Amino acid sequence: MAILLDGKAMAAQLMADLQGRMDALRAQGISVGLAVVLVGDDPASQVYVRNKAKACQELGIYSETIRLPQETTQQELEALIDRLNQDDRFDGILVQLPLPRHLNEAAALRRILAEKDVDGFHIENAGKLFTGQNGVVACTPKGILHMLKAANVPLSGKEAVVIGRSNIVGKPVAMLLLNENCTVTLCHSRTADLAAHTRRADILVAAVGRPRFVTADMVKPGAAVVDVGINRVDGKVVGDVDFEAVERVAGYISPVPGGVGKMTIGMLMENTIEAAERKAR
Ligand code: NAD
Repeated sequence: MAILLDGKAMAAQLMADLQGRMDALRAQGISVGLAVVLVGDDPASQVYVRNKAKACQELGIYSETIRLPQETTQQELEALIDRLNQDDRFDGILVQLPLPRHLNEAAALRRILAEKDVDGFHIENAGKLFTGQNGVVACTPKGILHMLKAANVPLSGKEAVVIGRSNIVGKPVAMLLLNENCTVTLCHSRTADLAAHTRRADILVAAVGRPRFVTADMVKPGAAVVDVGINRVDGKVVGDVDFEAVERVAGYISPVPGGVGKMTIGMLMENTIEAAERKAR
């Protein structure tokens, strides 16, 4: 039976560590702030934004959620981002994605000051990750690496296979694993013979968005399997990995729920605190 990569327990430990860093900042008279911008009324985004505000409250991070109507123009959104860039109360600015279709997501993200981009989606931060420089790393990929390291999964020289090439998960997690000296294969919807790749993986990350897509026959015995997927099936949340079957083959496995998702918000908190620490220096 695989060892559980327990996101809930790891996130609780992370929050306790962050509390210590918050105390140290407070002792220096420094407060930490996060602005969250939500455009429109996407129900999933509402939940995410509420959870982010709750985590801020838990740590004593000042947070404001700015809700804009669905019909907000690009100009209005960017004017708000400009104001938040100038506002010293906020160390971090997060624009909740997806934006309504008429808005230009890439342009909005570029408008955020790179040092306040706590989601790590700004082109400058993506470029830093790509070139192995210190920048803000996107929360979900950062959380995945944190889980692997916390469980002491060996990375250097190992075969890592990532399924999914999105800018927010697949590509950045592949870069992080490469920076850890894994030999990385990035698979996607056009990959020929996917299972031939996944069966070689010592570390397998599934970020596809298809319920129970990764089956036991696709997994190398003893592999560390990280399930990023969040899929709703009959009102229940399930991952991209067929958990019951794969946990019998894998060496490590992250559950859904209670896995990567739990780490993501913790990493957002860490990125926000790091931004305040950087400013203080
Ligand atoms: P996406 O839709 O942008 O990307 C999915 C990727 O899967 C694509 O690159 C595509 O090439 C690949 N893919 C699709 N079908 C495939 C196939 N048959 N074979 C191989 N590859 C295939 O999704 P995303 O934003 O990267 O998110 C992926 C999943 O992770 C979703 O379920 C999403 O909800 C979840 N997610 C979770 C968190 C978290 O905090 N846990 C954060 C972000 C995303």
